[in-house]
Amino acid sequence: MFEKLKQEVWQANQRLPESGLVILTWGNVSVIDRKAGVIAIKPSGMPYESMTPEDIVICNLEGDVVDGSRRPSSDLLTHLELYKAWPDIGAVVHTHSTFATMQAQTGEDLEPLGTTHADTFHGAVPCSRELTGEEIRRAYERETGHVIVQTFQERDLDPMAVPGILVSRHGPFTWGADAAHAVENAVILEQCARMAIMDRLLRPDLGPVSQALLDEHYYRKHGVHATYGQG
Ligand SMILES: [Zn+2]
Repeated sequence: MFEKLKQEVWQANQRLPESGLVILTWGNVSVIDRKAGVIAIKPSGMPYESMTPEDIVICNLEGDVVDGSRRPSSDLLTHLELYKAWPDIGAVVHTHSTFATMQAQTGEDLEPLGTTHADTFHGAVPCSRELTGEEIRRAYERETGHVIVQTFQERDLDPMAVPGILVSRHGPFTWGADAAHAVENAVILEQCARMAIMDRLLRPDLGPVSQALLDEHYYRKHGVHATYGQG
């Protein structure tokens, strides 16, 4: 069952170590099939090299396994909260990629410092607040999802215009309409964080790009007036 979905999720998970985003087993990709009411996710703690499409776990939206013999990634409940809150997203990626994680550990937003950032993220990539001790003890993974959704609600951000977040003291989550876009956004977020951290070494007081440049680059690639690419 769900062979095509498992193949897609397996392939997307393989892209994480291939792109240099992940070492060991420090990352996962999931995809939702909203019609079937299931999500497919990486099995917990399994090396990418030995994983096959059959190892991908299929769960319902309550997090119960409905197909597959493995245990799902421990981040499953975080992914589920994002799918429930945001009907337009089709895939979620979590990694501990070095530079995005460094930025997340500072607890500060990743400001848009240039057009590389503006092409994909229409504004700063927010950093969430830290989880409280009570949230961590009660339902850590689910509360991580809550704090992500809460950050977007409080700041009135559109998750499709800013397709990623830094969870404070933890690391990046990205998403997209499908697995390919969600992984691409993870690669771009890592590269933007890398450049921003280096930029701040060169010029510690560097501020964000102008709204005009941010808008120009973002809307060249997104929305009804996009002109970038081959249409
Ligand atoms: Zn993590």
